[in-house]
Amino acid sequence: MSNEFQAHEIRDIIKINYKYTMGGQSKFFLELMKNKKILGAKCTKCGKIWMPPRINCSDCFVPADWVEVKQTGTIEVSTIVWFTTSAFIKNIPYATGYIKLDGADTALLQGIFSENLVPSKIKKGKRVRAVFQKDREGKMTDFFFVPEDEYLNWISKPEYEGGD
Ligand SMILES: [Zn+2]
Repeated sequence: MSNEFQAHEIRDIIKINYKYTMGGQSKFFLELMKNKKILGAKCTKCGKIWMPPRINCSDCFVPADWVEVKQTGTIEVSTIVWFTTSAFIKNIPYATGYIKLDGADTALLQGIFSENLVPSKIKKGKRVRAVFQKDREGKMTDFFFVPEDEYLNWISKPEYEGGD
């Protein structure tokens, strides 16, 4: 008889209810959920505004303060998504990209939705604006970006609303 290990596998589904904390970044998610504000973090030494926010400046290693950034920004790079996880499959195709919000020094990776999703709509340099879910949970999916010229159409849909 061989001593070679052979794993016995059983196919099953495990459902786990759990909670996790956003730790020091909780304020970002709470302000997003309650007040539709997008907060960055400003370094107390160099003044760089990080988006997404960081507890400490990654350049100076000193604490950063919360600051509100604009809900408009510019696409730095983007792509159209055709393959994704079950959480986003109903949105396919959609775009995702790095967006430099006005007032921030770094770019945020976030979804970009368009009613006419063609590459020219989401190319580098295009202006976008944040649209919020009406039912927010304090998650990154509480908001997404749309081309500025589609903003009024998106916030007129029953499940979404505008920010500031
Ligand atoms: Zn700094």
